[in-house]
Amino acid sequence: MTHNQTNTEFAKLYAALEAPVTALDCGKKCAPYNEYGVPFCCDIRHTVPALYRQEWEYLRLRTDLWRLWEAPPTAEGRELAAGTPPGMVLAACRGHQHCQRAYRSLACRAFPFFPYFDSRGEWLGMSYYWDYEDRCWVISHLEAVTPQFAEQFFAAFEQLFDAYPQEREIYAYHSQQMRAAFAQRRRAIPLRHRNGQWYKISPRNERKRKVAPASLPAHGVYHLAKTLPFPDEITT
Ligand code: SF4
Ligand code: SF4
Repeated sequence: MTHNQTNTEFAKLYAALEAPVTALDCGKKCAPYNEYGVPFCCDIRHTVPALYRQEWEYLRLRTDLWRLWEAPPTAEGRELAAGTPPGMVLAACRGHQHCQRAYRSLACRAFPFFPYFDSRGEWLGMSYYWDYEDRCWVISHLEAVTPQFAEQFFAAFEQLFDAYPQEREIYAYHSQQMRAAFAQRRRAIPLRHRNGQWYKISPRNERKRKVAPASLPAHGVYHLAKTLPFPDEITT
């Protein structure tokens, strides 16, 4: 791939996925629960964004927002570095107070969602990175995800899969891991289908049941907040 192709691809990909996940600033909802009031997905103690190598090239020529992430000499750091997907690099930005919206990575734009594939390899829709259930406010409030975000998410990943078809395999594998994790927990997988509806999917037989997103479970502190008579008093 030429340098110019890379530029065009990432410029187009970023333009395709501009919409925020929710109409309100979800960072204001989760940050109070994190040390120093930093949104969890912008805090490298919780998540280190993985950038495509071409994406890193695109960004490093345009902004000083990003630097390559150096793994700390800990077991966790080594594990994270070793688990970096092929063709990607781990990167850290200058922090949420210095965010440059135009240069957010694809990982930032899509968080907490990833493209979900069924066991036959069909791309059904989007589900979320389940490790963040206890921290990400959006995961506990799926009804707040806007249709505009979902449509842009699908359009952007269509572009990505056209340019990098091997990415389908990576997300299909990740989806399979989600089925295994949820089967073990005897839980259904929440899915925003490409047809615009929300479903619960059985991780064992993959049967789908249409649901209202507001009926999907909340987790951690957000579960507690939903049981209180005046939940906004502690979630804002
Ligand atoms: S996507 Fe989740 S973790 Fe990131 S700012 Fe929004 S609520 Fe917080
Ligand atoms: S670039 Fe912006 S959205 Fe992405 S991790 Fe940094 S502060 Fe968060």
